[in-house]
Amino acid sequence: MRALILSDIHANLQALQAVLAQAPPHDVVWNLGDIVGYGANPNEVIDAVRPLGTTFVRGNHDRACSGLTDVDGFNPVASRAAKWTQCVLSSEHTAWLRHLPQGPVMPAGPVSADVPANGAAVRCAHGSLLDEDEYVLSARDALHSLTGDGAAINFFGHTHLQGGFATDGEQWYRLAPDYFTRDTAETWELQLSSGARYMLNPGSVGQPRDGNWRAAFAIYDTERHTVLFCRVPYDLRSAQDAILRAGLPDRLASRLRDGR
Ligand code: ZN
Repeated sequence: MRALILSDIHANLQALQAVLAQAPPHDVVWNLGDIVGYGANPNEVIDAVRPLGTTFVRGNHDRACSGLTDVDGFNPVASRAAKWTQCVLSSEHTAWLRHLPQGPVMPAGPVSADVPANGAAVRCAHGSLLDEDEYVLSARDALHSLTGDGAAINFFGHTHLQGGFATDGEQWYRLAPDYFTRDTAETWELQLSSGARYMLNPGSVGQPRDGNWRAAFAIYDTERHTVLFCRVPYDLRSAQDAILRAGLPDRLASRLRDGR
Protein backbone atom coordinates (compact mmCIF):
# COMPACT_ATOMS: atom_id res chain seq x y z
CA MET A 1 0.00 0.00 0.00
CA ARG A 2 1.31 3.40 -0.92
CA ALA A 3 0.11 6.56 0.82
CA LEU A 4 0.59 10.02 -0.61
CA ILE A 5 1.20 12.25 2.39
CA LEU A 6 0.33 15.94 2.09
CA SER A 7 0.72 18.68 4.66
CA ASP A 8 0.49 22.46 4.91
CA ILE A 9 -1.02 23.09 1.50
CA HIS A 10 -2.07 26.54 2.75
CA ALA A 11 -4.51 27.30 -0.05
CA ASN A 12 -1.78 27.20 -2.70
CA LEU A 13 -3.74 25.70 -5.59
CA GLN A 14 -0.89 25.87 -8.10
CA ALA A 15 1.44 23.90 -5.81
CA LEU A 16 -1.27 21.33 -5.04
CA GLN A 17 -2.05 20.81 -8.73
CA ALA A 18 1.63 20.23 -9.50
CA VAL A 19 1.91 17.71 -6.67
CA LEU A 20 -1.17 15.77 -7.74
CA ALA A 21 -0.01 15.74 -11.37
CA GLN A 22 3.53 14.59 -10.59
CA ALA A 23 3.09 12.33 -7.54
CA PRO A 24 4.10 8.70 -8.07
CA PRO A 25 1.26 6.13 -8.08
CA HIS A 26 -0.46 5.76 -4.69
CA ASP A 27 -3.48 4.06 -3.15
CA VAL A 28 -4.56 6.55 -0.48
CA VAL A 29 -3.99 10.17 0.51
CA TRP A 30 -3.25 11.23 4.08
CA ASN A 31 -3.56 14.94 4.84
CA LEU A 32 -1.80 16.38 7.88
CA GLY A 33 -3.60 19.71 8.04
CA ASP A 34 -3.25 23.44 7.38
CA ILE A 35 -5.17 22.96 4.18
CA VAL A 36 -6.00 26.68 4.15
CA GLY A 37 -4.54 29.96 5.41
CA TYR A 38 -1.91 32.20 3.70
CA GLY A 39 -2.75 31.31 0.08
CA ALA A 40 -5.36 32.74 -2.26
CA ASN A 41 -7.44 29.67 -3.20
CA PRO A 42 -8.90 28.06 -0.06
CA ASN A 43 -12.20 26.99 -1.64
CA GLU A 44 -10.56 25.48 -4.71
CA VAL A 45 -7.97 23.64 -2.59
CA ILE A 46 -10.65 22.12 -0.36
CA ASP A 47 -12.62 21.06 -3.43
CA ALA A 48 -9.48 19.32 -4.73
CA VAL A 49 -8.36 17.50 -1.57
CA ARG A 50 -11.70 16.59 -0.04
CA PRO A 51 -12.58 13.76 -2.43
CA LEU A 52 -9.02 12.38 -2.37
CA GLY A 53 -8.45 11.96 1.31
CA THR A 54 -9.14 8.96 3.43
CA THR A 55 -7.36 10.42 6.44
CA PHE A 56 -7.38 14.05 7.58
CA VAL A 57 -5.95 15.86 10.58
CA ARG A 58 -6.78 19.47 11.31
CA GLY A 59 -4.12 22.17 11.55
CA ASN A 60 -4.02 25.38 13.57
CA HIS A 61 -4.84 27.45 10.45
CA ASP A 62 -7.80 25.19 9.65
CA ARG A 63 -9.11 25.90 13.15
CA ALA A 64 -8.54 29.66 12.97
CA CYS A 65 -9.85 30.08 9.42
CA SER A 66 -13.06 28.25 10.29
CA GLY A 67 -13.55 30.27 13.46
CA LEU A 68 -12.97 27.38 15.87
CA THR A 69 -10.19 29.34 17.56
CA ASP A 70 -9.39 33.04 17.44
CA VAL A 71 -6.37 34.49 15.64
CA ASP A 72 -4.85 36.18 18.69
CA GLY A 73 -1.85 33.87 18.75
CA PHE A 74 -1.01 34.55 15.10
CA ASN A 75 1.51 37.10 13.86
CA PRO A 76 -0.02 40.08 11.99
CA VAL A 77 0.47 38.57 8.52
CA ALA A 78 -1.01 35.20 9.49
CA SER A 79 -3.85 36.95 11.27
CA ARG A 80 -4.73 39.06 8.21
CA ALA A 81 -4.65 35.99 6.00
CA ALA A 82 -6.86 34.01 8.41
CA LYS A 83 -9.45 36.81 8.54
CA TRP A 84 -9.42 37.10 4.72
CA THR A 85 -9.88 33.31 4.48
CA GLN A 86 -12.82 33.41 6.90
CA CYS A 87 -14.50 35.95 4.61
CA VAL A 88 -14.05 34.04 1.35
CA LEU A 89 -14.64 30.45 2.50
CA SER A 90 -18.00 29.02 1.57
CA SER A 91 -20.19 28.06 4.52
CA GLU A 92 -19.97 24.43 3.44
CA HIS A 93 -16.18 24.49 3.43
CA THR A 94 -16.11 26.26 6.78
CA ALA A 95 -18.30 23.53 8.25
CA TRP A 96 -16.11 20.82 6.72
CA LEU A 97 -12.94 22.37 8.21
CA ARG A 98 -14.60 22.57 11.61
CA HIS A 99 -15.20 18.84 11.60
CA LEU A 100 -11.66 17.77 10.75
CA PRO A 101 -10.34 15.53 13.53
CA GLN A 102 -7.67 16.58 15.99
CA GLY A 103 -4.51 14.51 15.67
CA PRO A 104 -2.98 12.14 16.21
CA VAL A 105 -5.14 9.78 14.16
CA MET A 106 -4.51 6.27 12.95
CA PRO A 107 -4.83 6.31 9.16
CA ALA A 108 -7.65 4.46 7.49
CA GLY A 109 -6.66 1.52 5.33
CA PRO A 110 -4.73 -1.71 5.66
CA VAL A 111 -1.67 -0.14 7.25
CA SER A 112 -1.20 -2.05 10.46
CA ALA A 113 -1.06 -5.45 8.80
CA ASP A 114 1.83 -4.36 6.58
CA VAL A 115 3.95 -2.76 9.23
CA PRO A 116 6.59 -4.86 11.03
CA ALA A 117 5.46 -6.24 14.35
CA ASN A 118 7.40 -4.01 16.71
CA GLY A 119 4.32 -2.72 18.44
CA ALA A 120 3.90 -0.49 15.46
CA ALA A 121 1.06 1.20 13.85
CA VAL A 122 1.17 4.53 12.08
CA ARG A 123 0.00 7.86 13.43
CA CYS A 124 -0.68 11.14 11.68
CA ALA A 125 -0.53 14.47 13.51
CA HIS A 126 -0.23 18.14 12.65
CA GLY A 127 2.18 19.13 15.45
CA SER A 128 3.55 16.64 17.93
CA LEU A 129 1.70 13.53 19.07
CA LEU A 130 1.00 15.20 22.40
CA ASP A 131 0.06 18.70 21.24
CA GLU A 132 -1.37 19.57 17.83
CA ASP A 133 0.16 23.07 18.09
CA GLU A 134 3.68 22.03 19.11
CA TYR A 135 6.51 22.58 16.61
CA VAL A 136 8.75 19.52 16.37
CA LEU A 137 12.01 21.20 15.37
CA SER A 138 14.62 19.11 17.19
CA ALA A 139 15.29 15.61 18.44
CA ARG A 140 14.43 16.93 21.89
CA ASP A 141 10.99 17.96 20.62
CA ALA A 142 10.54 14.54 19.00
CA LEU A 143 11.62 12.72 22.16
CA HIS A 144 8.23 13.04 23.78
CA SER A 145 6.50 11.59 20.73
CA LEU A 146 8.95 8.71 20.23
CA THR A 147 9.13 7.35 23.75
CA GLY A 148 6.40 5.46 25.54
CA ASP A 149 3.65 3.50 23.83
CA GLY A 150 3.49 5.47 20.59
CA ALA A 151 3.63 4.18 17.06
CA ALA A 152 6.90 3.35 15.33
CA ILE A 153 6.11 5.51 12.35
CA ASN A 154 4.59 8.92 12.83
CA PHE A 155 3.93 11.60 10.27
CA PHE A 156 3.62 15.25 11.22
CA GLY A 157 3.59 18.71 9.67
CA HIS A 158 3.31 22.26 11.05
CA THR A 159 7.03 23.18 10.77
CA HIS A 160 7.01 23.22 6.93
CA LEU A 161 10.43 21.49 7.08
CA GLN A 162 10.80 18.24 5.13
CA GLY A 163 12.59 15.37 6.90
CA GLY A 164 12.32 14.46 10.55
CA PHE A 165 13.85 12.45 13.35
CA ALA A 166 14.58 8.80 14.16
CA THR A 167 15.85 6.80 17.08
CA ASP A 168 16.95 3.21 17.51
CA GLY A 169 16.59 3.58 21.26
CA GLU A 170 20.20 4.68 21.76
CA GLN A 171 21.11 7.16 19.06
CA TRP A 172 18.99 9.99 17.66
CA TYR A 173 19.14 11.04 14.05
CA ARG A 174 18.00 14.10 12.15
CA LEU A 175 16.76 13.22 8.68
CA ALA A 176 16.94 15.79 5.89
CA PRO A 177 16.59 14.95 2.21
CA ASP A 178 19.68 15.67 0.14
CA TYR A 179 18.79 17.32 -3.17
CA PHE A 180 21.09 18.34 -5.99
CA THR A 181 19.12 20.90 -7.99
CA ARG A 182 16.93 23.87 -7.21
CA ASP A 183 14.34 23.90 -9.97
CA THR A 184 13.62 20.37 -11.15
CA ALA A 185 11.58 17.51 -9.73
CA GLU A 186 13.64 15.35 -7.34
CA THR A 187 13.18 12.51 -4.87
CA TRP A 188 15.11 11.18 -1.90
CA GLU A 189 14.32 7.73 -0.53
CA LEU A 190 14.54 6.75 3.12
CA GLN A 191 14.72 3.03 3.88
CA LEU A 192 12.98 2.52 7.20
CA SER A 193 14.58 0.22 9.75
CA SER A 194 12.19 -2.10 11.57
CA GLY A 195 14.01 -1.54 14.85
CA ALA A 196 13.72 2.24 14.79
CA ARG A 197 11.02 4.80 15.47
CA TYR A 198 10.33 7.80 13.32
CA MET A 199 8.80 11.26 13.29
CA LEU A 200 8.62 12.17 9.61
CA ASN A 201 7.49 15.38 7.97
CA PRO A 202 6.53 15.29 4.27
CA GLY A 203 7.23 19.03 4.09
CA SER A 204 4.83 21.74 3.02
CA VAL A 205 3.01 21.60 -0.29
CA GLY A 206 2.15 25.28 -0.38
CA GLN A 207 4.66 27.23 1.71
CA PRO A 208 8.01 25.42 2.23
CA ARG A 209 10.34 26.96 4.80
CA ASP A 210 13.51 24.93 4.29
CA GLY A 211 15.01 27.30 1.76
CA ASN A 212 13.66 25.26 -1.13
CA TRP A 213 10.75 26.78 -3.03
CA ARG A 214 9.55 23.54 -4.65
CA ALA A 215 6.35 21.93 -3.38
CA ALA A 216 7.08 19.12 -0.91
CA PHE A 217 5.31 15.83 -0.21
CA ALA A 218 6.09 12.18 0.56
CA ILE A 219 5.06 8.67 -0.41
CA TYR A 220 5.01 6.00 2.30
CA ASP A 221 5.30 2.46 0.89
CA THR A 222 4.29 -0.09 3.51
CA GLU A 223 5.50 -3.09 1.51
CA ARG A 224 8.96 -1.76 0.67
CA HIS A 225 9.08 -0.03 4.05
CA THR A 226 10.30 3.19 2.52
CA VAL A 227 9.40 6.85 2.58
CA LEU A 228 10.07 8.73 -0.64
CA PHE A 229 10.49 12.46 -0.06
CA CYS A 230 9.64 14.47 -3.17
CA ARG A 231 9.98 18.04 -4.47
CA VAL A 232 8.33 19.36 -7.60
CA PRO A 233 8.40 22.78 -9.25
CA TYR A 234 5.07 24.54 -9.76
CA ASP A 235 3.64 27.71 -11.30
CA LEU A 236 5.06 30.01 -8.66
CA ARG A 237 4.23 33.23 -10.53
CA SER A 238 0.52 32.37 -10.73
CA ALA A 239 0.38 31.54 -7.02
CA GLN A 240 2.08 34.85 -6.20
CA ASP A 241 -0.18 36.83 -8.55
CA ALA A 242 -3.27 35.29 -6.97
CA ILE A 243 -2.07 36.33 -3.50
CA LEU A 244 -1.41 39.91 -4.62
CA ARG A 245 -4.70 40.15 -6.53
CA ALA A 246 -6.57 38.98 -3.43
CA GLY A 247 -5.07 41.86 -1.44
CA LEU A 248 -3.24 39.51 0.90
CA PRO A 249 0.10 40.74 2.37
CA ASP A 250 2.96 41.00 -0.19
CA ARG A 251 5.16 38.98 2.14
CA LEU A 252 3.00 35.90 1.53
CA ALA A 253 3.87 36.11 -2.16
CA SER A 254 7.57 36.93 -1.83
CA ARG A 255 8.31 34.19 0.72
CA LEU A 256 7.17 31.48 -1.73
CA ARG A 257 10.17 32.22 -3.98
CA ASP A 258 12.57 32.10 -1.03
CA GLY A 259 11.10 29.00 0.57
CA ARG A 260 11.24 30.79 3.93
ZN1 ZN B 1 1.23 25.36 8.37
